[in-house]
Amino acid sequence: SAPLSIVRGAGEAAEQGILMRTGEAFQAYRLVSTIVLDKTGTLTEGRPKVREIDVFDGTEEELLALAAAAEASSEHPLAQAVVDAAFQRGAVPPDVQSFEAIPGKGVVARTDKGEVLVGSPAFLAGRGTDISHAEERIRRLENAGRTVIAVGRDGRALGILALGDTLRADAVHAIATLRKSGLKTVLLTGDNERAARRVAQEVGLDEVHAGVLPDGKADIVRKLQTNGRRVAMVGDGINDAPALMQADVGIAMGGGTDIAIESADIIILSNRLDTLNIARDISRRSYRKML
Ligand code: ADP
Ligand code: MG
Repeated sequence: SAPLSIVRGAGEAAEQGILMRTGEAFQAYRLVSTIVLDKTGTLTEGRPKVREIDVFDGTEEELLALAAAAEASSEHPLAQAVVDAAFQRGAVPPDVQSFEAIPGKGVVARTDKGEVLVGSPAFLAGRGTDISHAEERIRRLENAGRTVIAVGRDGRALGILALGDTLRADAVHAIATLRKSGLKTVLLTGDNERAARRVAQEVGLDEVHAGVLPDGKADIVRKLQTNGRRVAMVGDGINDAPALMQADVGIAMGGGTDIAIESADIIILSNRLDTLNIARDISRRSYRKML
């Protein structure tokens, strides 16, 4: 059975909205020297919105209708934002015959109005839909911190959507406190490099890994674990699950997907990132009392 101080620590943590799934991980948390954080849904609130629309061909309503049809069955937060934007403008999506989500890239759907691709510009380009004429525009939006997704139909690029999410209110403070306590802070995201750098700069993170595909997230955690360094990973998405398992301590945001929560040792039920610091304080104190 768990030592009494750990049981008390767990109680104190629970009052702060921090759920410990294992006593071991909670003890290990005081020993980590690196903390890796996912961007969307972890550093940010995870509710991106469509902020700008650029149509190459057709109208905004048509673009949104096609994009929403393709995204309707996706669970990705970007998909939700696209569907919401379409709904708000009264765009009516065509019927969908088949749908496939490609993690870290986008979606493909066969619809009444043709084959629709929605995803990163690189995803469309990789499938033979030329988007090069919008490169400059995309770069500018990404430098401003936007996530740009492109929409194509039957091999033609129809337009781009620029999405933006809001940083959690205490993100800057929480990261500053983690760094003050000696932790190396690392951003790990599937989003584009430019938007990731922008967020890292705003929040003050030490290191950035962007454009990382879902399988790559666990690899990066593994690399950070060399030389005896212990790593905590904080995430919320399906994509984060392998990295949460790989980390010495996996921490899931409570609003996250079920698989992230199942893969984690610690679950943060509040929407405050400062709980990452509070949990460390409790972890340290519980351990000290055990000696
Ligand atoms: P994150 O690490 O921020 O959760 P993901 O790995 O889920 O990011 O996705 C990486 C990128 O792939 C997104 O920024 C987007 O460009 C593209 N993408 C993934 N899924 C979708 C989708 N359902 N719709 C549009 N774009 C997507
Ligand atoms: Mg996420």
